[in-house]
Formats: sequence, structure tokens, C-alpha cells
Amino acid sequence: MRCAVLSDIHGNLEALEAVLADVAALRPDRIVCLGDFVGYGASPNECIARLRPLVAEAVAGNHDLAACGRLRLGYFNDAAAEAARWTDVSLTPEHRAYLHALPYEARLPGARLVHASPAAPTGWHYVLSTRDAEEEMAAFDEPLCFIGHSHYPGLFEKDGRTVRYTRDAEVAMRPGRKYLVNVGSVGQPRDGDPRAAWLLWDEAGRRLVHRRLVYDVEAAGRRIIEAGLPRFLADRLQWGE
Ligand code: ZN
Repeated sequence: MRCAVLSDIHGNLEALEAVLADVAALRPDRIVCLGDFVGYGASPNECIARLRPLVAEAVAGNHDLAACGRLRLGYFNDAAAEAARWTDVSLTPEHRAYLHALPYEARLPGARLVHASPAAPTGWHYVLSTRDAEEEMAAFDEPLCFIGHSHYPGLFEKDGRTVRYTRDAEVAMRPGRKYLVNVGSVGQPRDGDPRAAWLLWDEAGRRLVHRRLVYDVEAAGRRIIEAGLPRFLADRLQWGE
């Protein structure tokens, strides 16, 4: 089984189309989404319409829940809160209902899917250090858990009691080890690389492959400005931060 794992699209249709073209070229058996379909970007309905028929499993991100009223905006920064309110009034009733019904976690044979934290799927913690990862990795029994949320691709590998972190683009999975994998963000990368990110899980080949794609950042930014969203949200796409 080869599985494409996408996360944090954030209403960026230009990035999503680039990623889906790359996914199609690699012909995975299955596509899954770790949430944050919307928020920040100017094409929330278009992204849901495009992705929904393609994904076998999807979970809710905090921005999905904020945009459909299932989560309060209390801890969002100003730009995120403004984008969430804009998304709230822009969503079609059908797309709002879709986001509203997304589960917090999903399971595939051999892998757990959550947006942010397997230990607390409703808590929206960031897994940024090996210490964070140790706690999170005690919370799932599968050999693999896929997360997004930080928009920072990379993975934690646990061998016995030792957890190490790597940002290698391709990782060979070894028997008996456990992996917590951040697949990065399709629509708003924050690791200083503006290219769209997604991950291929090649189960039979025991490989995890981070993919990066150049896309039309200018067009995505223009759409954000034309929609009247904060200019900062367009600018940050160019920096990948
Ligand atoms: Zn996100």
C-alpha cells in the first residue's frame, strides 16, 4: 500500500493543485488528509471541493473547527482570527457541514492520523522537541502516527527508549521502531522553504518520502489580497514562514 498524506492546505488552491499533480504522477493507492483544509487562504470552498472526493480518510484541524463554529477563536492571533471569520462567512453550507462532521482522529492499518497531537487530539499541542515526542509516542500503539499542525516537515523515530529527530527527505523505516511523522503543510509552509509539502508513505517499500513542490505563490497571494484578507498572509507564503 502506498499512501499520500496531505495536511494544512489552508485554502491555498494553487499549492493544492501543484501537490495533486505530483500525487497523481506517483499513483498512490490512497490519499488521506490531516486537516486544516481552510483558514488563512482565499479558496476554502475550492480546496474542499477538490480534495473531498479524493480522500479516503480525513481528520479535523483547529482551523477547520474555528471556521465552522466548533472551536472558539480565543487563542488565535489577529490575522488567523480575521481569516477564520472570513472563512466562516465564505463557506457554503455543504462545506461547513463537512468540516463540522470531521473526526479528531482516524486509523489506517498500521497508522494513526491526527491533526496535532495523538496524546490529546482535541488539545492542539505542537510537537516540536524530542521531549514532546516521547510523551506523544506513548499515546499510540501503531508503528506510525502522522501529524501536521506546526507546518514543519520532519520525523521522530523511537528505538527502544531513544527518540531522535530528522528532517531527511527520505527515511527508511526499520522493523521494531516507531515513527511520529510531521508531513508539513501544503498551503502555508513555515520551515523557511516556500514550496508546498506532502508525504508519501510506501508501506511495502518501508519508506517515508517528503515531497516539495514549487507552485504559483504570487497567484495565491494575489487572491488573498483581493479577498480583503490581511496582507501578511500573502507575504508569508513567499518567505515560507
Ligand atoms: Zn495549520
